[in-house]
Amino acid sequence: MRAVIYARVSTEEQAQKELSIPSQIEICKKFAVQNGYEVIDIFIDAGKSGTTSEREAFQELIAQAKKKPPPFNAILVYNYSRFSRNEMDSIVYEELLDRQHIKLISVTQPLPEDNAIRGLVRGIFRVIDNWYALNASQEARRGQIALIKQGYYCGGPVPYGYMLETLDNGRKRLVPNPETASVVQKIFEMVVSGYSYNEIISYLTQENIKPPRGRFWRKNSLSNIIHSHVYKGDFTYGRRAKKHKRRNRKEEWIIIENTHEALVSRDLWELAQRTHKKPEHIQRSPALLGGLIICAQCGSKMWYKKTYRQGKQYGNYICANREESGTCDMPAIAASIIENFVANKVIDILLASNIDEVIESIIKQQEENNGIKKLIQEKTKKLEQVHRTRKNLLRSLEILDLTDEDFIELNGRLRQLTEEEEEIKQKIEEYQKELALTDIPDKETIREALIKLKASANSINLDDKNALRDFLHIVVSKIFINTKAKEYQIILKIPSLESEERDSTGSP
Ligand SMILES: [Zn+2]
Repeated sequence: MRAVIYARVSTEEQAQKELSIPSQIEICKKFAVQNGYEVIDIFIDAGKSGTTSEREAFQELIAQAKKKPPPFNAILVYNYSRFSRNEMDSIVYEELLDRQHIKLISVTQPLPEDNAIRGLVRGIFRVIDNWYALNASQEARRGQIALIKQGYYCGGPVPYGYMLETLDNGRKRLVPNPETASVVQKIFEMVVSGYSYNEIISYLTQENIKPPRGRFWRKNSLSNIIHSHVYKGDFTYGRRAKKHKRRNRKEEWIIIENTHEALVSRDLWELAQRTHKKPEHIQRSPALLGGLIICAQCGSKMWYKKTYRQGKQYGNYICANREESGTCDMPAIAASIIENFVANKVIDILLASNIDEVIESIIKQQEENNGIKKLIQEKTKKLEQVHRTRKNLLRSLEILDLTDEDFIELNGRLRQLTEEEEEIKQKIEEYQKELALTDIPDKETIREALIKLKASANSINLDDKNALRDFLHIVVSKIFINTKAKEYQIILKIPSLESEERDSTGSP
């Protein structure tokens, strides 16, 4: 396996001997030899702070790591703080490395491969990151909106019927296009006069009027014109989220009124909306709690299922056993009810949680859950057993009057037991070393994540189903449902908050 070494020392750290660049490299090299890595390159940032932009070698390292395929499988660092100054940064880069199947190995503080708490903390950060990215883009929005309000045009394709005029200050604004503005007006008039889209299309084709795009007029282009706010003089901002390349939902749009000259009156525009309703985009019905709900009676998962009644769509969670084989009779539960209940309950629990207590129990649980500790316990028990047997054997050798043959045999057995004891002792020592190295994110990192989680619980928009789904899947482990007894038990992934919320009083 091919590895590179990254070493960094800040100006303040340069005085500390054990952190010197040569000693960082030496320790990493030793690790490489012991673990079968071939070191193919070394990246060094000396006298640099942790700020990413300042670190040239680091930038080069990341550039190399992005290559397809990457030239190495592992990055060795003395400790994680060499790689990044804060956990947040490291998570961002670790994601990149994950994708490229590159391991980041801190030779002095290895992390267990699969660490539930670390996964949780990472998950929290990922959601929070998206959260902040959203806020940041809203900041940027504000600047643009100010310009739009002053009547300036801020990029994007020029709508059909308009053209751009450059002002003295170099900015641009929308003005009616003398050739096409009248076409837009004609389309609106025809729509409110009761002409169908097909009839309008034949008229426009007959008149040799060029469509906004392509060679032919389509129903879609007419629909887009009729429903665009731009023709009544308003500007719609934020219809598409740039980053995700998906359409934003209508509620997320910002409509700024009277930014430019209208082509049709507001009355005419409204009338046209009523004549031709825009087909609603049917959203893929997302099961907010998909995979989380479990039937309390038979223990099988409850599936999300859509049903239609009188043309309306309803979502239900239904026991898989009931659905498949009819062996369970747990009644289904309406998705809207249980989702609402769980979301509110989880938010309440998080807001009421005491961060210090949570941290204590995370650390406690981590220790308790630690498989290595169990192994040590097992080995210690075994050691006691072997030790006892050996002692007994030794005593029998002294007390009993043995034949030579028996003596030789028992003596051989004794030697065997002594060896076994020694072996177990060594193993325990190894485990203890491993245990000492087993690391969980430090308290401050966990604290930071929890604070952010609380903040997001406080500000999450329950109508933003995508954000809510992410949020719930990060914090909720399981939900046991007994619709007969009206008992709902929510188990969270965060220790000490996995208090079993049994609610039989009110809703649902
Ligand atoms: Zn069931």
